[in-house]
Amino acid sequence: MCWLMNAVCHHSAHAIIMADHHQLPPPFACSNCVTERAIVFCFADGARLCLHCDGALHGASALASLHRRAPLCDACHAAPAALRCQIGAQRATLCADC
Ligand SMILES: [Zn+2]
Ligand SMILES: [Zn+2]
Ligand SMILES: [Zn+2]
Repeated sequence: MCWLMNAVCHHSAHAIIMADHHQLPPPFACSNCVTERAIVFCFADGARLCLHCDGALHGASALASLHRRAPLCDACHAAPAALRCQIGAQRATLCADC
């Protein structure tokens, strides 16, 4: 494993996750309830949703349940994740930019 890749990947994602943990409000709140931290991005709605709203909105109808969704990037919480990074036991889901 490339050391540089490891360090960059691990650091950027982990630092922000830790900061996130101790700080309120969340960097990107759910587009629906605006209080919970968004964790998934719905491509069909173009919206970031928390786990609760994702279930409520997409469980409401058969059509909505077909919406393609992706987890949000662990580092920027702004873009849908494009790749998954694994360093030992540490896992990060990152967007194409991070
Ligand atoms: Zn919500
Ligand atoms: Zn949707
Ligand atoms: Zn990102």
